[in-house]
Amino acid sequence: MPELPEVEALAADLRERAKGRVIDRADIAEISVLKTYDPALTALSGQTITQTHRYGKFLDLVTEPAAGDGAAPLHLIVHLARAGWLRWRDSLPEQPPRPGKGPLAFRLRFTDGAGFDLTEAGTRKRLAVYLVTDPAAVPGIASLGPDPLDPSFTPAVLGGILAGRRTQIKGVLRDQKMIAGIGNAYSDEVLHAARMSPFRLASSLTEDEVTALHEVIVATLRDAIARSQGLAAGDLKAEKKAGLRVHGRAGQPCPVCGDTVREVSFADSALQYCPTCQTGGKPLADRRLSRLLK
Ligand SMILES: [Zn+2]
Repeated sequence: MPELPEVEALAADLRERAKGRVIDRADIAEISVLKTYDPALTALSGQTITQTHRYGKFLDLVTEPAAGDGAAPLHLIVHLARAGWLRWRDSLPEQPPRPGKGPLAFRLRFTDGAGFDLTEAGTRKRLAVYLVTDPAAVPGIASLGPDPLDPSFTPAVLGGILAGRRTQIKGVLRDQKMIAGIGNAYSDEVLHAARMSPFRLASSLTEDEVTALHEVIVATLRDAIARSQGLAAGDLKAEKKAGLRVHGRAGQPCPVCGDTVREVSFADSALQYCPTCQTGGKPLADRRLSRLLK
């Protein structure tokens, strides 16, 4: 799943490629993708991409109408969800895509024939596209917590988020309403780098631990962005995977201490951690396994 560093890199890549290009047409290939109906997608035709932004894990393409046509600037906002991806294409067919069973969800074509596809693997269609005049009209953006790369995200702000919260730190880190942009992968990476159990209660962190966690959050995300910088959309997935130290690496040796990375499974996700680095050498109970063993 693309998280803050990948979406940041996608925004940078699209700024290079798409800025100044004029939109020919936008087409939906998977009906559930489009979450807004006013303005209609046809309003994009003839608009020019002027900028790209990131809000948490949302990607925003800002457009401007042709001079003197009186139309409002628009924001085409994309959330790639768990299995979505963006693929740049130097040459797209003139005909709109046929809605169907393939992974194609959405296509944006420029007047010069280039453009991009949004694709989504799997059967659970969660990828979302919004066309709005104000990004805050997207509920998931309006409710975002502070962005961890914004200078206003200080150790004191993190302390305020964690204070009194009797929930596991793993859940707090990936809750978009508390901190924007961190998901399942980078919360595993942050907690590994901070040598902290994912099950630690947020409210139990000391001031020093909050300061150290803050430093690790910012450094982990900045490192990931630095590795992604200058990479085209197509190369980001492999780079993200190669850069992860514990996430998705159950059974492999921890790159810090050599212990075996372990996993705790939940209904629709799993977390990975290193017992030696994070839990005093003790494996965490895997709820799924312990239920089976009863
Ligand atoms: Zn370790």
